[in-house]
Amino acid sequence: MAAVECPGCKANITVPDLINCPLCQTYLNPPFLRELREKEARVNRAAANAQRIQGAKQWLILAVFGVVIVLGGYLVYSVVVPSEGQLQARKVSAALLACQQRIAGLAEYGEAETPPYVKNFGKGDEFYFAWQRGSFYFKNGFGASVPMSASCIGSVSTGEIRQLTLNSKPVI
Ligand SMILES: [Zn+2]
Repeated sequence: MAAVECPGCKANITVPDLINCPLCQTYLNPPFLRELREKEARVNRAAANAQRIQGAKQWLILAVFGVVIVLGGYLVYSVVVPSEGQLQARKVSAALLACQQRIAGLAEYGEAETPPYVKNFGKGDEFYFAWQRGSFYFKNGFGASVPMSASCIGSVSTGEIRQLTLNSKPVI
């Protein structure tokens, strides 16, 4: 609430339509009262502005919360519920790992070298991995490194290896 000082007794006067000061009875002339009314209006406008800003802030906070919740939900959804493409990619990765382990398990002498990562050249449900000769090595019975080649073909959806060759000789 706005207040102006009484010119007589310096008391705070807050009621704009008084004619005399309630304490010292000093006559409050019209310019004095106009000042009080204007001051009152300024205080009211400031309060209304502050309320508008407060309201806008609350909406902004709500909007930010909403965006965070939607984005977070989408993130959780995309992790928990993978897309077809992501599922396919995971199955291809699993098939590659199975092929690499199967091929490494074919080494008869010494420590097996696992074939490196290769791209899938298969189409649709077929995976097709191929390793050029020399892309990995197995030890022979004399401990010498022998350059190897391999191919591994099968079904992405079931993970089954249908055809496996080592140095061009079929193993499966
Ligand atoms: Zn007074």
